[in-house]
Amino acid sequence: MANRLKGYPIAQNLHTMSKISFSWGRPGWLKRIRERELVKTGFIPIKLGEYIDRHLENNPDTSRKEIEEGLQDALGAYKQGVRCECGEPIWVIGSAVVEYSCFTCITGEATPDDDLEIDEAC
Ligand SMILES: [Zn+2]
Repeated sequence: MANRLKGYPIAQNLHTMSKISFSWGRPGWLKRIRERELVKTGFIPIKLGEYIDRHLENNPDTSRKEIEEGLQDALGAYKQGVRCECGEPIWVIGSAVVEYSCFTCITGEATPDDDLEIDEAC
């Protein structure tokens, strides 16, 4: 009887712990780490259509045609192996609105941090 009484809180603790690790398995930071492992450059991949919707939300003055053509053009260039003048692969999302360049040359930042890239170019 004493063993059962002593053992019970441990079992309850284990149960609580498994609930904690279960809930910790879901949040964004873990998902984000896993996303980062999937891409070579640290970008978060996004589908072309999804990015266009997001871009238009943030830039209501831009026409869908304009951003879509820019992205298709930059994606085509990426697939043909076009590189930034520094030698790095181009960043399609940035290259859609400026010239064909890599992330670092466009933004001045060394590495992407929560920055998006079209999934086909990741
Ligand atoms: Zn560059």
